Amino acid sequence: MAEVDRTVMPDPRDVVIVGGGFAGLSAAVELAEAGFRVAVLERKPKLGGRAYSFQDPEGGDWIDNGQHVLMGCYTQTFDFLRKIGTYDKLEFRDRMEIEMIAPGGRQGRLKTGWLPGPLHMVSALMGFSLLSAGERMAVLAAGAWMMALGRFARKRLERMTVAAMLKDLHQSDNACKCFWFPLAIATLNEEPERASAALLAEVWRRAFFSRRRDSAFVYSTVGLSDLYCQAAQAYIEEHGGFVAAHTGVETLQMDGNHTVGCVRMRDGRKLEAANFIAAVPAGALLAMLSEPVAHDPFFARLAQLRLSPIICVHVWLDRDVTDCAFVGFIGSTTQWLFNKRVIFAQRGTEHGGYLSFVISGARALVDKSNEELLDLVLDDLHRMIPASREAKLLKALVIKEKQATIAPDCESDRLRPGAVTPIDNLFLAGDWIQTGLPATIESAVASGHAAAQAVKNRVGPISPVPTLE
Ligand SMILES: Cc1cc2nc3c(=O)[nH]c(=O)nc-3n(C[C@H](O)[C@H](O)[C@H](O)COP(=O)(O)OP(=O)(O)OC[C@H]3O[C@@H](n4cnc5c(N)ncnc54)[C@H](O)[C@@H]3O)c2cc1C
Repeated sequence: MAEVDRTVMPDPRDVVIVGGGFAGLSAAVELAEAGFRVAVLERKPKLGGRAYSFQDPEGGDWIDNGQHVLMGCYTQTFDFLRKIGTYDKLEFRDRMEIEMIAPGGRQGRLKTGWLPGPLHMVSALMGFSLLSAGERMAVLAAGAWMMALGRFARKRLERMTVAAMLKDLHQSDNACKCFWFPLAIATLNEEPERASAALLAEVWRRAFFSRRRDSAFVYSTVGLSDLYCQAAQAYIEEHGGFVAAHTGVETLQMDGNHTVGCVRMRDGRKLEAANFIAAVPAGALLAMLSEPVAHDPFFARLAQLRLSPIICVHVWLDRDVTDCAFVGFIGSTTQWLFNKRVIFAQRGTEHGGYLSFVISGARALVDKSNEELLDLVLDDLHRMIPASREAKLLKALVIKEKQATIAPDCESDRLRPGAVTPIDNLFLAGDWIQTGLPATIESAVASGHAAAQAVKNRVGPISPVPTLE
């Protein structure tokens, strides 16, 4: 890869990737494996983007910016982790098992059976005591309808919200409150009154009514950053590439109208390459484009994508208050509780309790103070698990991710671009581009793979760069 010098043409194997999150790193690993020489440039001091962890300086616990759950259907993510050698840091909960608690102590468990998919979900729903027998049958009928959708019906759902689709499918208020809405908010990060029904149908088809393994909940048994950042960097370096953190890109500098010539970094340095992948959020991409390019309708429409926040409240208590790894709260502001001691296999009195609470689609709450959010979460915990009132709060940490994901509303399907752009050698990656999935880790990795494939298609067969022994 060359500093800009007009007498030197970049080697066709050179690819600059801007952004070191799941999308950028998975694109880089894919290209490095195929013999390309990649440079990953990341603005922050550490890799990981919106999925990162850090260590609590006092207690030593690993804290994720927000609890991330993977699902058994994240096949592209698992391929990526296998390649970089960290797949064994995942724990698969082979049978999906979700405790749901409603105020007043009403409880239900959604637990898949041993039957092959999709019958495993039928048995889970049949045993879900928060729904009446009629509601369970109606949920199954709605699920079967979503499974059987043809391409045109699916397209029609893109213009419909989750709430409107469920109304059309005659789902009761109770079924929405206890089953559909918690599922939709958790997987889409948006309120059902705004979220696209097409995306919920896709999640339903891929995750819940497919193979039994696809609906398994999958956790990282290590901090999120340890799951992929260092291992991906090592893989890239072993394959002749490099990763530079603390290296923000200011501009994608054009070379004529149809190609990017180089990236100009914040410290003024420039880096030339044959191909470029922008693996950054849409707003950051628009900020890197020069004037006429940013006004091209392909890019200009990206400014209309809306964002949706997630709030995560981490709480340390002097004791464990639940044996479950994962609890859904119904009818409260707080949506999910994750018991980190169970997830990290660290149960025992010497550790005390460490719980992470998640509130997705948190637009209405994100401007509240940390103290208000902590009070709100503790109130919900005490209402849902009354025994927790006995526990003493040792400390807490509130993390607000104001730009957690794009809002998967009915407009977003139309606005999300593919990996290929009108600029010949510029490709896009990121959970927000059009992958047919909500903005998740799997979408980010799928987008990275799509961008890498687009580069390979453009360059054609290459002889690989020599790698380190
Ligand atoms: C709190 C929270 C909880 C979540 N929970 C889940 C979950 O349970 N399951 C799930 O599947 N997904 C979850 N997600 C979504 C998941 O984290 C994202 O989909 C994924 O991390 C996005 O990866 P990405 O690479 O597309 O983008 P990012 O992670 O945003 O990576 C982009 C990178 O580009 C860098 N960058 C930006 N501008 C520049 C520049 N000019 N120069 C250089 N670098 C730049 C950024 O610093 C960043 O590191 C959650 C997200 C949040 C915030």
